[in-house]
Amino acid sequence: MTSSTSITGWVLAGGRGTRMGRVDKGLQPFRGATLVGHVLARLAPQVGAIAINANRNLPQYQAAAAGMAVVPDHLDGFEGPLAGLQTGLRQCATELLLTAPCDSPFLPPDLAARLQAALLANGADVALAVTMEVDQPEHGGAPRRQRHPVFSLLKASLLPQLDAYLATGARRMEGWFNTLRVAEVLFDDAAAFRNINTLEELQRHEQDNACAATAVPREAVAATGSDADPLPVDQALRLMLDRIASIDATEQATLHAALDRVLAEEIISPINVPAYDNSAMDGYALRGADLPLDSMTGPVTLAVIGAAYAGRAWEGRVGAGQCVRIMTGAAMPAGCDSVLPQELAAAIGHDTVTIAHGAIGAGANRRFAGEDLAQGGVALAAGTVLRPAHLGLVASLGIGQVTVRRRLRVAFFSTGDELRALGQPLDDGCVYDSNRYTLFGMLTRLGCEVLDMGIVGDDPHALEAALRAACRNADAIVTSGGVSEGAADYTRDIMALLGDVAFWKLAMRPGRPLAFGQVRDNAGDGDASAWLFGLPGNPVAVMVSFYLFARPALLRMMGAESRQTMLRARAAQPMRKRPGRTEYQRGIVSMGADGAPQVRLTGAQGSGILSSMTDANCIVVLAHGQGHVADGDMVDILPFEGLL
Ligand code: AMP
Ligand code: MG
Repeated sequence: MTSSTSITGWVLAGGRGTRMGRVDKGLQPFRGATLVGHVLARLAPQVGAIAINANRNLPQYQAAAAGMAVVPDHLDGFEGPLAGLQTGLRQCATELLLTAPCDSPFLPPDLAARLQAALLANGADVALAVTMEVDQPEHGGAPRRQRHPVFSLLKASLLPQLDAYLATGARRMEGWFNTLRVAEVLFDDAAAFRNINTLEELQRHEQDNACAATAVPREAVAATGSDADPLPVDQALRLMLDRIASIDATEQATLHAALDRVLAEEIISPINVPAYDNSAMDGYALRGADLPLDSMTGPVTLAVIGAAYAGRAWEGRVGAGQCVRIMTGAAMPAGCDSVLPQELAAAIGHDTVTIAHGAIGAGANRRFAGEDLAQGGVALAAGTVLRPAHLGLVASLGIGQVTVRRRLRVAFFSTGDELRALGQPLDDGCVYDSNRYTLFGMLTRLGCEVLDMGIVGDDPHALEAALRAACRNADAIVTSGGVSEGAADYTRDIMALLGDVAFWKLAMRPGRPLAFGQVRDNAGDGDASAWLFGLPGNPVAVMVSFYLFARPALLRMMGAESRQTMLRARAAQPMRKRPGRTEYQRGIVSMGADGAPQVRLTGAQGSGILSSMTDANCIVVLAHGQGHVADGDMVDILPFEGLL
């Protein structure tokens, strides 16, 4: 039996920090979080409890660990990893203790499981990780086994033995392990055990994403973007969509209830629509063969022998020289193949109608059975968002109930100490929380079931609690604020701590910072997870990044594809644009004097100026590589109609 709940994760952060210029290694910023934040995030899903061993900067570790225990050595004087291990074994409430250093952000996701399996299989006291290393591979060095004693799983019952060993004055981890029954577990991926020792190494890893490809989650490996080299929008969108799958659950809905829902299964037409040949016009049903052959023939006069109405067919057969008065939608009488609209008759008598040459061609104005939808054909594809036309089309098949995807549940909240809810007084330096209202509107329009979680202050515990609760109650979480570099650091740390979250710097304006990933809550019963979209705080940036990233991703989760038509319009003014980023400027599109669409900007384009969104009816999308736009140039626009 293996079980993660019998293991306490023990993160070793007790070093003196002499190598990183006397800064605390674990607290160094790395890929949108701290080094220790990455270790905690990787370890948390593998163990039942987790704590940190640190001797300095305890409050900072406390913040990074969001309420987890941070415990200093019992031995004085930075006595190394064994001292940390002693503290770990002392306060461990579970059967086993798993150690990992605070500077190993790439540790393997199956570390605990594999070590535990080996411990049990070998009846060992300790299981530790081993990799094959090659020294100087360029000189053909032979591979050797490298033990990683700081990545080990130990029985908590070893404490008396360790106390006795330390009492001898010995301090070496390897030395103590030599006195125990040790099981070694060979891991293929040596890179996963790499630790980061110097600031230079840290910077190199921060930039050199590819080198960690096998060890860290894919989205964290992918260029996360930096100030110097931000991530292009299309690349970020692809990375995001690649990871997301649609929810499976479906339900039955009546047509009324199906409006704006996503069709889960294709609809095959059980009948022909229309079900029978019928007339497209009010007029006279006749045989095409009776029409005047050419202009030399002169008009033809036919005898009107009956009348056909919609819902009341004329039952006889039309012969040569005859016709039937017919209404729109009435079944074509037998023998007829054409309809003369009444207004095109040359003359209408009491029971005759006269037709000149050229009034209609043979076969005119006849609707064929199945010309709209053929029996057995696909009437609607799965994934269709059911709009009014779709409801009508389904009804035309005689179908009154459809299978739709369960509504997507999306939790959202705003972050920031400066935010005030409506109804509260606006203190100095505060702003009313507007993002929650734009998000409410956008999510509701998208057809999501929304869960408004209010404002969460810049407080690690509140943030963690909100994210955990959101995981339990929603498929996706949309937050605003706190993901930019200047924002309260722990927003990012907490997000990183609870899952695989990448912090992107995007080559776009507005909306440069974005957090995306999966957050998890395995604290309560079972495991709950949700996709997190951490949008920037500025109100325009929130809307733009919602439309560009959250919307297509949420649509994919809903089982629908995002279809957004980009149109072209002529710029009615010059537009400033910096190459190397995609800009989303707010525009007003109108009909130009020449009848073609033209677009001008709404004025100030700051990412905090929400009136630029209310004044606009489209977004002008200026592509990544593009520079300034001259008056009269053609530009891409995304009309708000259908989007907002
Ligand atoms: P942040 O990314 O948290 O630093 O926020 C960036 C800017 O957006 C700050 O000026 C915030 O005050 C503002 N902001 C953040 N959240 C909201 C919100 N919910 N409503 C209005 N403004 C906000
Ligand atoms: Mg903030």
